[in-house]
Formats: sequence, C-alpha cells, structure tokens
Amino acid sequence: MPTPPLSDLFINGTWQPASERFDVRDPATDTVLAAVADADVPTGLTAVTAAHDALPAWAATPPRERAEILRRAWEIMTAESAAITRTIVSENGKAWADAAGETAYATEFFRWFSEEAARIAGDFRRAPAGDKTIVLDHRPIGVCVLITPWNFPAAMATRKIAPALAAGCTAILKPASETPLTALLIAGILQRAGVPDGVVNVVTTSRAGELTKAMLADERVHKLSFTGSTAVGRLLLHEAADRIVSASMELGGNAPFLVLEGTDVDTAVEVAMVAKMRNGGAACTAANRFYVHASLAAAFSSALTRALEKIRIGPGSDRVNDLGAMVSTVERDKIADLVRTAEAEGAVVNTAGEAPDRGAFIAPAVLAGVAHGTTITRTEVFGPVAPIVAFEDEADAVRMANDTEYGLISYVVGGTVEDAMRVGRQMDSGMVAINRGVASDPAAPFGGTKQSGLGREGGFHGIHEFLEPQYLAVGL
Ligand code: NAP
Repeated sequence: MPTPPLSDLFINGTWQPASERFDVRDPATDTVLAAVADADVPTGLTAVTAAHDALPAWAATPPRERAEILRRAWEIMTAESAAITRTIVSENGKAWADAAGETAYATEFFRWFSEEAARIAGDFRRAPAGDKTIVLDHRPIGVCVLITPWNFPAAMATRKIAPALAAGCTAILKPASETPLTALLIAGILQRAGVPDGVVNVVTTSRAGELTKAMLADERVHKLSFTGSTAVGRLLLHEAADRIVSASMELGGNAPFLVLEGTDVDTAVEVAMVAKMRNGGAACTAANRFYVHASLAAAFSSALTRALEKIRIGPGSDRVNDLGAMVSTVERDKIADLVRTAEAEGAVVNTAGEAPDRGAFIAPAVLAGVAHGTTITRTEVFGPVAPIVAFEDEADAVRMANDTEYGLISYVVGGTVEDAMRVGRQMDSGMVAINRGVASDPAAPFGGTKQSGLGREGGFHGIHEFLEPQYLAVGL
C-alpha cells in the first residue's frame, strides 16, 4: 500500500487535492513543512455527504466488528509511533519526550474505545406502576463534526474519533490549521485498519469559521465535539443552537496548584514541574497559578527556579531537549507580554535559562510575589511561566483557587494525603490531581465545570457523548 500523501483532504476514503493550499510551518526552524489542501465550504460539505452516506452501514456494523477495527488502529498506531511523534514535533514544536508521551496517550484511546464499543449497556425493567416494561437502548447520534486544537494534534483527534466510531457514528475531523499533518497521518492509519470509506473524513482548512458554520447549518449534522478556547467554544455553541445540535465542549483552563502547609518542598517542586512543564506549559490542564503556603513560598520559588534552570531548551527533534518551541511566534509573544504585564503589576520575574534566538522559543520564568486578581492569575498562560501567590489561610487559598470562570482541573499537594483530599474535594473543577502532576488517562472522564466545558471525554462517559438514549415503552 503506497504511503498516502500527507497534505490532501481525506474524504470518502480518498485523498483529494484542493485548488488552494496553505503552509504548515515548523515553529522551531520557521521552515515550511507542507502546503496543505485548503478546503472551501462546498468541498467541506462533500465530507458531510460522505459521512452521511456511510452512516447507515457503519451504525449497523456489529459492535464487535467496530471494536476490532479500532483495535487494529491501536496496533498500527503503536507500530508507527515514531512517525507520529516526529510529525507532532515538527508541526507543533514540542519536545520529543512530550510528543512521544502524547502519541502513547493518543494511541490508547483506540484501545480503550475498542473495548467500550462492545459494552454499551442499556436498561430493562418493569415500570413502577406495573403497566409496561421500560427498555432503554442507545443509538449512534449520527454525523459528527470534530474540531481540535494545535496543542495535542494526535490526542485531541483520537479522543474524539475513537468514541465516535465505537458508538457507530461517522465523523468529519477539522484539525487546527497549525497542526493538520498529524491528523492526516491518523486518517491513513484508520484507513489501513479497515475503517470503511466515508466513516472518517479529515478536512484541513484555513477557513475554520466559514466551514464550521456551514456544517452546523446542514441538517445532516447531528453532533459537534469541540476542543479549543472558551471564546471559540462559546461562538460555536451559539451556532449549534440554531439547529439544537448536540455539543460537547472541552475548553480553556486556569488551573490552580495548591501547596499546603507542611508539604515537603522538593516533593511539591517535583509535582509542579510535571503540572507546569508538560507540553511546555501549552496544555489546558497546565498549572496556571501556584498558591503556596506563606511558610514555604520563598523556598518553593527558589527550588522551582533551580529545577527550571536545569532544563534544556531547543528543537524537539534533538531528543535531549526538555522544552521545545511554542507553536508560533505569535503564541510566544503573547506569553512574553503576559510576563511583562505581571512585572508591571508587581511580580518579581526570575527567568530560568536562555532560549535559542531562532524559532518560537521562550525561556521559563518563575514569578514571585504575585497578587491574586492580577492579569496573569486571570489569563490562561499556555507557556512555561509559573506565577506564585503566597497564602496564610487555607480557606483563603481555596477561595482564590475557585475564583475563576474556568473549572477544568486543580492540583493539590499536601503534607498528608488526608489534607490534600480534604482540600481537593473543595475544588470547583471537573478534575483534581492529588499529589501528582498529571491526571489525564483514557480510562478516566476528562472535562471541566463552569466555562471549561460541557460533557466528558474518555472513561465510561466518553462514548455516551456520541450516543442518543432511546426509551421504548413496551406494553405488557
Ligand atoms: P482555538 O483558537 O479555539 O482553536 C481550536 C480549533 O477551533 C482549531 O481547529 C481552530 O481552527 C478552530 N476554530 C477557530 N475559530 C473557529 C471558528 N470561528 N469556528 C470554528 N472553528 C474555529 O484554540 P487553540 O488556540 O487551537 O487551542 C488552545 C485552546 O484550547 C486553549 O484555550 C486550551 O485550554 C484549549 N484546550 C482545551 C482542552 C480540553 O480538553 N479542555 C484540550 C486542549 C486545548 P484554526 O486552527 O484554523 O484557527
């Protein structure tokens, strides 16, 4: 089987060029990696036609058969993990270890949902009044539009495609325009795994707004699953409202990281390095604000700076580097601006290490003496910057941690597990990481409260975002 071209549209099982193309760049070197097909609205809608036409047969495919195709996708992606990792590094800029970690995480969604495909449980019971039997079935929701961001080009795609296919739905994936190449590689894997034509389509475009609006207005589309910023999520919810399209939203975060009184500073820094630095800080789950008990704040701040000074900054293609490039110079400049604003608002900036001049690199920084409520505590940083707020009173720390419109994840590091659990339960977020720097797991429900989103991905819940319950009232 010839290697499919990496830069065309994947519609109805065929690779299709487009009359226009847009460049995808390597942010570490600022070189062009590929000129990718730029779908316009009519072309994008042919993907809806393909998904619509493929739906009846895929929905009727026995769950075990769907499961086996997903399992093959897991096997192929596992075997080809190095190619996926290389592509993530080249288009996103992240460090090799981060990309390899993402590939492993992304691949696992195919295995997890291959297992879930055959276990969609319903309900069957006698009504309390005794007049009928209540039968609850689950049906695939239909044609799904999946929209993903640039920060996890593989994992955000598989976290949606795998449950959609397991549920019997068909899909159109629109990856971020900065990182479409990984999504196209995944399309090729799914094709080789035996996914029938039209069941998964990948449409790359520089006209996300126009195309998505047209898809959501199309009566053949039943589901929107979006991962990205809260601002775009809000706009898409408005668009989905016109036709009451079911919407799952994985949106922005502003994760608090609490270090409680009595915590060992080295342990807290070890956990903080993971929570802050995974993916170079460009994660919706990244620790965004550190609330540290006043008795530990100075020691924590210097130990964190020392740990950050040890990391190597440079292109992800060189596997020794721990921190790669940001996805673009625009993103890098936004982070640098936030640091300048924090300094103007009273923070003491301790920069750790030096970033290469060329490419979208930025050196990490620890910001000491930050006041809660200043700009950096209210903004998703999305980079390797750690603002530290000292607190005296635990209740005050909990109040500050929850004082945000976001509610994706919180981190609590405590002197004892009991302390950390007690405080963790008070966090107003969909996920709480207790004494550890990462919570994401394909087997666990990922998602947020407040303006961090609607619904859950992964775990037992993930497949239900793509299923419609149907209740049958059966006369006795
Ligand atoms: P973004 O700007 O919201 O873009 C996300 C996706 O939406 C991209 O594919 C983008 O396409 C598309 N898009 C942009 N404007 C659109 C519009 N008007 N209509 C339809 N689609 C549109 O987010 P990002 O900068 O890529 O990603 C960073 C954000 O994602 C952060 O806020 C982060 O917290 C969030 N995120 C959340 C999770 C989670 O699970 N909760 C996970 C990862 C990231 P283009 O690329 O063509 O603009």
